[in-house]
Amino acid sequence: MALIVQKYGGTSVANPERIKKVAQRVARFHAQGHQVVVVVSAMSGETDRLIRLAREIHARPDERELDVMVSTGEQVTIALTAMAIQQEGIPARSYTGSQVRILTDNAHTKARILDIDAARLRADLDAGFVVVVAGFQGVTDRGDITTLGRGGSDTTGVAIAAALRADECQIYTDVDGVYTTDPRIVPQARRLSTVTFEEMLEMASLGSKVLQTRSVEFAGKYRVKLRVLSSFTESDNDGTLITFEEQSPMEQPIISGIAFNRDEAKLSLLGVPDRPGIAHAILSPVGAAHVDVDMIIQNIGVDGSTDFSFTVHRNDYNKTLDLLTHTIKPQTGAREVRGDNRICKVSIVGVGMRSHAGVASQMFQTLANEGINIQMISTSEIKISVVIDEKYMELAVRALHKTFGLDGEDSPNKG
Ligand code: ADP
Ligand code: ASP
Ligand code: MG
Repeated sequence: MALIVQKYGGTSVANPERIKKVAQRVARFHAQGHQVVVVVSAMSGETDRLIRLAREIHARPDERELDVMVSTGEQVTIALTAMAIQQEGIPARSYTGSQVRILTDNAHTKARILDIDAARLRADLDAGFVVVVAGFQGVTDRGDITTLGRGGSDTTGVAIAAALRADECQIYTDVDGVYTTDPRIVPQARRLSTVTFEEMLEMASLGSKVLQTRSVEFAGKYRVKLRVLSSFTESDNDGTLITFEEQSPMEQPIISGIAFNRDEAKLSLLGVPDRPGIAHAILSPVGAAHVDVDMIIQNIGVDGSTDFSFTVHRNDYNKTLDLLTHTIKPQTGAREVRGDNRICKVSIVGVGMRSHAGVASQMFQTLANEGINIQMISTSEIKISVVIDEKYMELAVRALHKTFGLDGEDSPNKG
């Protein structure tokens, strides 16, 4: 008998028919003698709908109130899922994040889980119940409802698996695993039967939304056995397992995956005096405005001045552009402010890069052959990211996918 946490995303609980399918899968696992905790998202599109509704009332809704509202999406699906499981003849009970007591900090709309009280869940499981928990939501020590950021149900699933020391956390979605890149963009993308934890963490944080980044961090910290699977196909494969052991260098492909992210924007300050403290003078007001900076480039100074560029989340573009124009430019004596919110970041990821030289030049040559200009570059031991014009994103991803030998047959198992 194993204890399994199964997380079902929005498309997997999109309507009553899909919810019944979830209940049937849960029933099969239960019949095999396993204890099952189910974590569900809101029905697909519901969280977006609720956010739009709030914006019809207020252009920038209060985040505490937004959390009270968007968390209702998951409250609907836990009850429906519990009913569907009961319909299968299995006792089931649903819990909101607050009922479980998934304790978070008070950073509304992007809260972090601090602690999970597993006692009630464990007692129910021991009494033979299937437990259904709302993803994406928690509660502060003052009793306020919080949410964990978009895609946060993945993190609920893994955190509950960690708290219960589950044997496995299964993430059921609309694709049958983690692919070499988003199969919706590159039909030749291939499913990876395993991917290392380090690679998955990079791919998630660089834009592959199949898993929320924090869920991968949790899996790493608590060594949760994490697997991505399809809820749509009665698949003959085991999805993708996130592994903690690396393959031998001989077996390891150089590049395992390609990620992309359209959510960034680039800002530049031209003609900034080239003196100690200038990076701090530019970035500390940005940090104080709660804007996270991703990539940063400063050119070598010529004639006592330099150019400074950085990227931020696209949602923070206007706010940061205002700050640069009205505060930072006059404060630093810069000549000009420029902004571009039509960029994207494309990244190649692979632990195999460690033992291979020339990967970067291969990447740059591929982009050059397609006539794509690189605006910014950043590298780490296992990834290379470039910022390019958004309109070349798909072309870049497809070309790199081919160059690094990732193209496979068009798979029939994609959502
Ligand atoms: P869910 O609602 O189940 O949480 P998501 O939409 O959040 O599902 O995540 C699944 C989607 O992630 C897929 O439909 C796919 O388009 C996208 N995706 C992006 N990158 C990848 C990748 N490398 N492998 C698989 N899916 C990916
Ligand atoms: N329902 C939330 C969202 O749409 C959480 C999730 O699906 O993981 O972001
Ligand atoms: Mg998701």
